[in-house]
Amino acid sequence: MPIRFKILGSSSAGNCALLQTENSRVLVDAGFSARRICEMLEACGESIDGIDAVFITHEHGDHVAGLRGLSRHPHLKVFANAFTAEAVQTRLKTRLDWRIFQTGQRFTFRDLEIDPFALPHDAHDPVGFVFTTGGGDLFQPRSAVGWVLDLGYIPEMVRERIRGVDVLVMEANHDSDLLKNHVKRPWSLKQRISGRHGHLSNESARELIEGTPDAGWKQVYLAHLSGDCNTVDHVKRSFARSLNNGLSHTLSIVAPGDGTPFFELPQPASPAPPSPQESSVITTLKNRRSSADPGSSI
Ligand SMILES: [Zn+2]
Ligand SMILES: [Zn+2]
Repeated sequence: MPIRFKILGSSSAGNCALLQTENSRVLVDAGFSARRICEMLEACGESIDGIDAVFITHEHGDHVAGLRGLSRHPHLKVFANAFTAEAVQTRLKTRLDWRIFQTGQRFTFRDLEIDPFALPHDAHDPVGFVFTTGGGDLFQPRSAVGWVLDLGYIPEMVRERIRGVDVLVMEANHDSDLLKNHVKRPWSLKQRISGRHGHLSNESARELIEGTPDAGWKQVYLAHLSGDCNTVDHVKRSFARSLNNGLSHTLSIVAPGDGTPFFELPQPASPAPPSPQESSVITTLKNRRSSADPGSSI
């Protein structure tokens, strides 16, 4: 079992995912209350007692809200860079078991290699992650998951980092028109969200997905949708042209309030890679929503 990956939930209101390998069980971000995280783990047959560590991207509440409650589980190691750890710890009474990494420097935890890279976002030192496991040979194929949420634009360095992952979680935060026309949001907040250190629009996410034709992705999740300024249908409309042009990977939208089923790597070998046009059709059919699949797919 090289990798099993499941988004427990993702939207501008909270983000958390579960990543399992042969020797590691970790959470990526902890943006729900600890009680909710424990419930979500139990709903998929896991327990917080079986989790080894939490990897934190940045200090915003939709990524760290659970850390206060999770401090009651002292076996959990919490990985973050120094600025993020400091920003979180000052708000907590109990000291977490921090494991500090340097942004831009790869490190290992058990059988995982973690590549934390800087993202343009209005936090102290926000990062995206690529998690890799496996030796790259026939018996232990190399598998990688990318987690790229909360960024105002896509620097070339980020595109390079995520080009080779098998599973990509990518922000598709807002529809630009819904954001522009939102009556309750002040102009300054709209500027912050749409600025170069804010959040990615559907259009920018689409440009990344379409503009990286040589990527090795098998599954792309569009996530961190805004509850006010985006809908699953708006994301679908933005990506309709991508599907018409054909995709070699599965594209799924994570609706606010939903998680995803487990995605397992490596996948069974297929006899022959489909042509781009065929793969587009397969993507549409394979992802038809079912009761077992809470993620909305296109
Ligand atoms: Zn943020
Ligand atoms: Zn966020």
